[in-house]
Amino acid sequence: MVEEKGTISVHTENIFPIIKKFLYSDHEIFLRELVSNAIDATQKLQKLASMGEFQGELGELKVKVAFDKDAKTITVSDQGIGMTAEEIKKYINQIAFSGATEFVEKYKDKGDDKQIIGHFGLGFYSSFMVAEKVEIVTRSHQDGAEPARWVCDGSTEFEITTAEKAERGTDIILHVADDSTEFLDSWRLRQILEKYCRFLPVPVEFEEKIINDTAPLWTKAPADLTDEDYLSFYKKLYPTAADPLFWVHLNVDYPFNLTGILYFPKVAKDFEMHRDKIQLYSRQVFITDEVKDVVPEFLMLLHGVIDSPDIPLNVSRSFLQADSNVKKINGYISKKVAEKLHELFKADRKAFEEKYDSIDVFVKYGMIADDKFYDRSKAFTLLQNTEGKYFTLDEYQEHIKANQQDKDETLVILYTTDPARQDTYIQGVRDRGYDVLKLDGVIDNHFINTLEQKLEKVSVRRVDSDTLDKLIDKGTQAESVLSDADKEKVKEVFNQALDRKDVNVEALSPDDLPVLITLPEFMRRMKDMARYNGMGA
Ligand code: ADP
Ligand code: MG
Repeated sequence: MVEEKGTISVHTENIFPIIKKFLYSDHEIFLRELVSNAIDATQKLQKLASMGEFQGELGELKVKVAFDKDAKTITVSDQGIGMTAEEIKKYINQIAFSGATEFVEKYKDKGDDKQIIGHFGLGFYSSFMVAEKVEIVTRSHQDGAEPARWVCDGSTEFEITTAEKAERGTDIILHVADDSTEFLDSWRLRQILEKYCRFLPVPVEFEEKIINDTAPLWTKAPADLTDEDYLSFYKKLYPTAADPLFWVHLNVDYPFNLTGILYFPKVAKDFEMHRDKIQLYSRQVFITDEVKDVVPEFLMLLHGVIDSPDIPLNVSRSFLQADSNVKKINGYISKKVAEKLHELFKADRKAFEEKYDSIDVFVKYGMIADDKFYDRSKAFTLLQNTEGKYFTLDEYQEHIKANQQDKDETLVILYTTDPARQDTYIQGVRDRGYDVLKLDGVIDNHFINTLEQKLEKVSVRRVDSDTLDKLIDKGTQAESVLSDADKEKVKEVFNQALDRKDVNVEALSPDDLPVLITLPEFMRRMKDMARYNGMGA
């Protein structure tokens, strides 16, 4: 008995082919959308009950996902708030449809669907990406509500009838299209559920098992958690990674809402940790692990989760960059990370130094990229000299002040990019009471520029640069046995042998530094830059 047939009124004749085509690579999100709706419906009922507006039995609330290979159906069921026939017309025919239409209108010309964060806004209608027909069988929580059934085949025509349904709640039944039968598979469905639904706040059952942790660690109060809790949660997220060094629990609700835990992974010098990414959630629903723009670039190497309903998810990347909330979130994360590092530095300097190798790259990257981060970090940033001793920026300048100044009283910081190969130079200056920093990491070239810009009256020179001879304190140096003419000869021999016009050769003392070969600092840097930019040296 058909009660009502109708036409959904939309501008676009038929949006489903568009949805299907342009979200081609991301069809699996239909399940995230349907399960999220089921969770929403469940939480709405819980909310009504807590306000005393629903007095019935809540029962053991959960969401069930099931499939039937022979019947070619996937069913998502909840015992939530349910819908009356009137509500279906309002929420499904109008709201869901207009949401999806708006979404498609906005993005159908954008081409690259990967540009859109999370594909939010598509909602219920994303089910037509995999189904040729969708059925809703639902019974409202309201007393005496008549169960209703809605069917739509993906055109703008729909049908509503009364239905048989004893229990409160909603079943969404997808009749899976022939080109989407890959989803009628236990392994595939479990994989999608584990990806998107792993931390949803209401139990989700699939094949008799609950697949989710309804109260993940980031939703809890930091005061209630132990180190063990953080470490075991990390293991859950990254089963193969070594234990993290430490973590920052993010928790803010004004002016935006954001929770999360960021972990500092143990880093090998050649950073091979790109593959484990920070995961972005919205109300415990997994969205993406492409967190570019939300997390400051220099912290993208961290691990962990960020959960915020205030990050706009149905927008393109360029829109996201310009979003004021996203900018604030980005700034907040950067601030929290700097604060945490400062705290650790103050609490136990020795322990901090022991871990510093792994933090070094984050801190330097941040100081180069972000002036505010530089200012927040300058008190705990550590420099290491060739002896393995650590100094803060201030300590180091104090340490070398007595010896390492040029004529204009500019402080000269010497560094080595390769302690083994530059050993002769290092020894040479150390013998004269100078100190040499070890700056041999991948980003130190840029970090040195930042230091020169930020530190006042400081010049930073590689230990084999041409400033070295100007620094050398002639007083402590052995008297050269060579005459000036001899020195010229030695120079000539070396110049010929080296056949390079860009280096300086200076003959000194046979029993100390017999010959000093240096390259002007600016030329060396140009070469380093060229090499860095892949232009060859
Ligand atoms: P959104 O979830 O963003 O509101 P959707 O397109 O996913 O958009 O869903 C549209 C509306 O349909 C929801 O707002 C809700 O009112 C209704 N709805 C969808 N699924 C369910 C469900 N399982 N139970 C009750 N209402 C639902
Ligand atoms: Mg939804």
